[in-house]
Amino acid sequence: MGLEITHLGSGSRGNATLLSTGETRVIVDCGFSLKQMEERLSLAGVKAASIDAIIVSHHHSDHSKSAARASKKWDARLYANLETTMRLGLEPISQVRTFEGLERLHISDDLSLLPVPVPHDDADNVAVIASNGDGMRAAFVTDLGEPTIELMKHLAGCEHISIEANYDLNRLISGPYPPYLKKRISGRGGHLSNQQTADILAEILHPKLSSIVLCHISEKNNAPHLAESEVLHQIGERFNGVLSISKQEGPEFSHKLGQGELEQINSTL
Ligand SMILES: [Zn+2]
Ligand SMILES: [Zn+2]
Repeated sequence: MGLEITHLGSGSRGNATLLSTGETRVIVDCGFSLKQMEERLSLAGVKAASIDAIIVSHHHSDHSKSAARASKKWDARLYANLETTMRLGLEPISQVRTFEGLERLHISDDLSLLPVPVPHDDADNVAVIASNGDGMRAAFVTDLGEPTIELMKHLAGCEHISIEANYDLNRLISGPYPPYLKKRISGRGGHLSNQQTADILAEILHPKLSSIVLCHISEKNNAPHLAESEVLHQIGERFNGVLSISKQEGPEFSHKLGQGELEQINSTL
């Protein structure tokens, strides 16, 4: 049956990921303009009208920007928790199928999603764990100051993990942001540093973990090579899968779970 993961782009200017199984197509976060979403989907070879559902992790616009309009135009069900629904000014039931933390969402016979609450300032954010009909699992984790025990439990069995590596601590400290913002980013409700992400991956690493994508990399306080080298430093000797980075522009590649392969997408925006 398979589970295919395509990052349409990730960073502070927008996040969106396409999940495809044989039957179903779901967007995790819809943080680009509608036009950009449709262009990026078309580069990935997918018609926007074929999207079945959109799940929004939290209301910040880099995750939610065109979610409501896309849901309407594409006739795709929109999923979000109640806080996110209210903060986006949307109507539960008529516009959004609302969920509770840890409520399994049956999208179709071959895809379900589990929202796992994570700490993030001024937002009720969730990580999303997707499971397909063959029991393969993939995790999507961004915008959290630190992991929870519950999250670690769910990451432990995943074949694929997309996780933010937002900032390099040294770059954040010496960088251009004002002190209050530096404190917020590195605090409990901020973002994960390269070091925190590497620690999480080192703790949950298991032989079936076949692919890792580092995402939401700050353009001011981080660099892809810093994130990659920190993670490889911690898990390189034990990890036999594919490590890649999702940048702001995309899509660049798809992961086909179960086949352990990275498929390049030729054209990017
Ligand atoms: Zn974000
Ligand atoms: Zn956020």
